[in-house]
Amino acid sequence: MAKGTAETSTTCPYCGVGCGVTVTMTDEQVEPVCGTTSHPANFGNLCVKGSALHETLDHTDRLLYPTIKGQRTSWDTALNLIADKITQVISTHGPEAVAFYGAGQMLTEDYYAANKLMKGFIGSANMDTNSRLCMASAAASYKRSLGSDTVPGCYDDLELADLLVLVGSNAAWAHPILFQRMVAAKKNNPDLKVVVIDPRRTATCDLADLHLAIRPGTDTTLFNALLAYLDETGALDLAFIEDHTEQFAETLEAASQAVDGFEALAEITDTDLDDLQTFFEWFRDTDRTVTFYSQGVNQSKDGTDKANSIINLHLATGRIGKPGACPLSITGQPNAMGGREVGGLANQLAAHMDFDQADRVRRFWNAPAVATHAGLKAVDLFDEVKAGKIKFLWIMSTNPLVSMPDANDVKEALSHCELVVVSDCMANTDTTAMAHVLLPAAGWGEKNGTVTNSERRISRQRGFLPSPGEAMPDWWIISQVGQRMGYEDAFSWEHPAQIFDEHARLSAFENDGKRDFDLSGLVGMSRDEYDAMPPVQWPVNAQWPRGRKRFFDDGHFYTRNGRARFIAVKAELPPQIQPGHLLMNTGRIRDHWHTMTRTAKSARLAQHIAEPYADFHPDDARTYGIRDGGLVRLFNERGAIVVRAHVASDGRQRQGEIFVPMHWTDRYASLARMGTLINKDNDPISGQPALKRAQVQAEPFNVSWKGFVLSRDDLGPLGSDYWVYNRTSTCHMYETSGNSDPAAFATTLAASWPEHEVLRFSDPKNGHVRVAHIRDGRLESVIFLHPSADLSARSWLQERFDDEQLEFADRLALLAGRPLGAGADKGKIICSCFQVGEKTILEAIHNGCESADALGAALKCGTNCGSCIPELKGLVGKALSKA
Ligand code: SF4
Repeated sequence: MAKGTAETSTTCPYCGVGCGVTVTMTDEQVEPVCGTTSHPANFGNLCVKGSALHETLDHTDRLLYPTIKGQRTSWDTALNLIADKITQVISTHGPEAVAFYGAGQMLTEDYYAANKLMKGFIGSANMDTNSRLCMASAAASYKRSLGSDTVPGCYDDLELADLLVLVGSNAAWAHPILFQRMVAAKKNNPDLKVVVIDPRRTATCDLADLHLAIRPGTDTTLFNALLAYLDETGALDLAFIEDHTEQFAETLEAASQAVDGFEALAEITDTDLDDLQTFFEWFRDTDRTVTFYSQGVNQSKDGTDKANSIINLHLATGRIGKPGACPLSITGQPNAMGGREVGGLANQLAAHMDFDQADRVRRFWNAPAVATHAGLKAVDLFDEVKAGKIKFLWIMSTNPLVSMPDANDVKEALSHCELVVVSDCMANTDTTAMAHVLLPAAGWGEKNGTVTNSERRISRQRGFLPSPGEAMPDWWIISQVGQRMGYEDAFSWEHPAQIFDEHARLSAFENDGKRDFDLSGLVGMSRDEYDAMPPVQWPVNAQWPRGRKRFFDDGHFYTRNGRARFIAVKAELPPQIQPGHLLMNTGRIRDHWHTMTRTAKSARLAQHIAEPYADFHPDDARTYGIRDGGLVRLFNERGAIVVRAHVASDGRQRQGEIFVPMHWTDRYASLARMGTLINKDNDPISGQPALKRAQVQAEPFNVSWKGFVLSRDDLGPLGSDYWVYNRTSTCHMYETSGNSDPAAFATTLAASWPEHEVLRFSDPKNGHVRVAHIRDGRLESVIFLHPSADLSARSWLQERFDDEQLEFADRLALLAGRPLGAGADKGKIICSCFQVGEKTILEAIHNGCESADALGAALKCGTNCGSCIPELKGLVGKALSKA
C-alpha cells in the first residue's frame, strides 16, 4: 500500500443485501470505493449505488450544529432541553405521551440505545421505526408461523436452488447484487428456473422463465390454490408435517376454499391459465425451491397473511432449512434486521423478547420502568401525535413527511406536538423543516457500529472520516439524554463496542437455547476484537461459534411446543377500483435510494432517471389524454403530484394501473411526494401500511413552455409550476415548465445578475427565451425556455461550467447550447458506471451490436455492476423488433 494510504472495510448503507465496501484513503482523499472481495454477501461486487458512495461524501446540505427554533445552540443546551422536556411530559402526562421514531439507517448500537431509553427508562414502548414501512409483515409472519422472527435461509440458497420464485420483488433494481448472484446461478445451472410474480414487468423479468403479472392483491389466492394443488397431486411432505408442524388440516381446508379450479384462478388473478399450470407443476416438482419476497408482499393490507401463505407452502413441502430450499424475505433497508434484533419495533422488546419477558429485561437493565405492553406502530403513532396525545416526539434519521402514507396528514400532525426533535445528518429535509430542535448526527463513513443484512449477517460499519461541524453519533446523543434524565450508569457507554457487548449479553441472558437470537459467542470482545470483527451470521454461541447458515434444519421451531404453525389464511380479494380511477403502485428505481438525500449528490446516479414519473398503459394514456413525455397530474382527496408521463408501450404496465417511484421530495421536485396520495390502510397484524395501493385520478398537466436552468449555485425551489432538481458533475440543473410568461420567469430568476454580465436572446412572438450569466469570464447560469423546441441536449453547456475562462467561440455559441458543427448528444444515461447514453447504445446496435454482451465489448456498458443489463437487453430487443 502506498505511503499515506489507509484502507477501511465497511458496509454499504443502502439496501438490505448488506454488501462489504472497501474504502481507500490516499493522503486524506477518498478513492473510488470497491466491493470487499472477502465479504460473503457480495464477494467484491457492488451495484451502481454502492460503487458511487465516494461521490456522496461531501458536506453539502449537512446539518452541522444543534439548533433550537432555527437558532444555533450548544449541545449542552439542546440535550438539557430534551431531557427536561421528556421528564416533564412523563410527570404530567405519563410515559405514553413520549414517542421515538427511528430508521433502518441507524446502526444496531444506535437502535439499542434508543430502545433501551424508551422501553426501559421512559417506560413506554412508543419506539417505532421506518422499518415498519419495509418489513414488519415479514417479521410478523415469521413469528406467527415459526415462533420467532428468524430468517430461515441464506443467500447461498439462491445459488443452490433449482427453482427461484420471486414475489413482489424487483431485485434487479432494489437488490442488484443478489440479482447478479441469481444471474450467475442461472448461467452455472441451466436447469435453474426463475418465476417472477409481479403485476409489473420489471427489469427482474429479464431473468424469468415465467412471469405471472397477477392482478395486484391476489397473491394469497394464488398461494392458497397452490397449497391445495400440492395436496391434490400428492406433493406434500407428510412426514415433516406430522413430525414438526401443527394446524395443517385447518390451513389446507381454508386454502382449498380459495378457488375452484385453474380457470377460476386464472380469472381471479388475471393470468394465463397455461402459465399458472406451468408454475404449479414446477413448484410441485422442485425440491430445491427458494421463494424470495420483498415489499410487494409486505406493503399490503394483508401482507402478513400473504407472507404466511408463502411460508405455508414451504412447511407443507418440508422446504425449509435445507440447502437451496427456504422462504427468504429481503429487507429494503441496510439495518432493518438489526432494528428487529434490538427491539426497534413498538411491538417487541429487546433481543427478540416479547412483553411477557419484560421482567427479564428489567432485571438485566436494572431499569425502573420496562414497558409491559406494545407501543404505537407508525401509522397509529403519528395519529396520536395529531390527536395531541404525544407531547414529545423524537425522529431519528428518517423523513416521514415523505415516506409515510397520507404524508400531508403527518405534516399536520407534527404541528400539533409540543416538542419535535429531529436528529439527522441532513439539514434540509421535509421533516427537519418541522422540528423545534435539530441535532446533527454523524453519517455513513463517520459512524462506527454494526448492521445486520437480510441473511442475518452482522457486519461492521466502520468510520474513516471525521464528522463535520459538531455532528455526533446517534448512540452518543441518546446516551447523553439518558444521563441527563438521571440514568448515568445505564447510559455511561464511551464506545459502540460497549453497547454491542451489552446487546450480546442481553441476547444470552437466561437464554439456554430458548431464543433464536443468541450472540453469547460474541460476549466479552475487546475493543480490538470488535474493530476487527468479520461478518458473521447469528446466532453465534457454543453450538455455532462461527454462526449458523440455516435455521430449522433440525425440525425445531421456537413455538411453545417446538412445532411450526401453519396459518389458515383467507384470501380476501382487493376492492374494485372506482370507474375513472387508476390503481397506483409505488417502488424504487435503480439509481436512487429512499428520499435521495445521499444519492442525489452523485451526478452519475442522478442521470439514469432524472425526473419523477408515472408509467401508464397505452390504453389508459389514451383514455385520459396523457402524452408520452408530457406532464401528468395525479390526484385524489388526500393530495396531488405532478410527474412526467411514460407511456409503456412495451407491455410492462397492466391496464388500469400506474407505477410511481417513491423517492422525490419537496427538496428535489415541485410536487412529487407520492406518499401524499396514499391512505393509511395498514395490515391489522403487522401495522405495515399498504404503500403499493392508492386509488388516483389522472389528467394532463398542461404547460405553455418548458426548459432547463443550469446554475453554479443551488437555487432551491425554483418557483415555476413544475421543476425538478438534479446535481450534475459541474453544476446544479433544473428541468422546469410553466404557464406564466416565460420571459417574466427568466427575468425573476435573473433579477440579481448585473446587466453587463448577461447574454440574452429573446423571441417574444415565439415565447423563446435564452439567457446566460457570465461573471469574470466564467459561466454562472443559463436559462433555456421554449414552448416546444427539443431542449434535451445540454451536456456541452454543463461542461462549460468547468471552464476557468470561457473561450471566445464558446461565448458565441452559448445561447445555441452547443458548438457549431457539434455531434449529437449521447442521450439519456443508461450505464451509470461508464456514462454510456441511450443514443450511443442505439447507434452501436445499428452498427451490429445485437446483444448486451456485444454492447459491453464495444462500449463497456453493463460490464461493471451489471445493473443496466436488463435495460441494454430491452434496447436491443426494441431496436431489433423495429428493424
Ligand atoms: Fe449497496 Fe445494496 Fe447495492 Fe449492495 S446491492 S452495493 S448493499 S445498494
